[in-house]
Amino acid sequence: MSTLKDIPVRYETQQAPARGNPLANVFDEFMNFCRSRSLFMLHYCTGCGAIELPPAMTSRFDMERLGIQPMVTPRQADILLVTGYVSVKTLKRVILTYEQMASPKYVIGICSCTVNGGMYWQSYATAKKLNDYLPVDVYIAGCMPRPEAVIEGLRKLQANIAAGTSDNWKDYYQRYDHYLANQQRLFGETWQTPTDVIGEAKRYGVIGPETEGEHTRLLGLHKAPLEPLRMTLNAGKLERME
Ligand code: SF4
Repeated sequence: MSTLKDIPVRYETQQAPARGNPLANVFDEFMNFCRSRSLFMLHYCTGCGAIELPPAMTSRFDMERLGIQPMVTPRQADILLVTGYVSVKTLKRVILTYEQMASPKYVIGICSCTVNGGMYWQSYATAKKLNDYLPVDVYIAGCMPRPEAVIEGLRKLQANIAAGTSDNWKDYYQRYDHYLANQQRLFGETWQTPTDVIGEAKRYGVIGPETEGEHTRLLGLHKAPLEPLRMTLNAGKLERME
């Protein structure tokens, strides 16, 4: 079973290494500050923890005063909020959603179930540690955490973004083979997504020693072109066309 030491929670704000040019540092700090105060959040309501989000967003706690507001599509979202236990089936959709988001992007795991499986730690049907499959920036533990805790977690993320240290999204590119290995272990070796993660890593310039490996090679073996799904209506029934 996982222990707390295994979980890379980054609660303390660290200072990012300064660049040589002082003007570049000022520009970076300004950009990071602006980015931390204008965040679109996609909340993937996987479990019961989602019920704490309406109070966190509405008048009493009013998350929008911090510069955070909900977003309905992954393409425009900065934060992926996973709000509770994640079943194996759901995790596939969570990974697809994460890969559709543009970088820099951040993941927050809400609820003890995302930390170590919580009360479902013995279940065959749930993923136990979210950070085995996606790079988690902040965990908010609790069963379920109150809106104050949700707000506090978001503020910690904002502080890390403003300090330029919340860069776990690079870890997904730099250690893609590691994340893919865990995904393949859970979903089977034919698991694939339509996203060209290695191509994105090259474009962002964040290739690492573990970007490619034996698991990404396996992905190449099974990579099949996406085919359109063609349906036809036959006697009032929808049928798949071959
Ligand atoms: S930690 Fe508790 S409230 Fe949250 S998803 Fe798990 S069982 Fe539900």
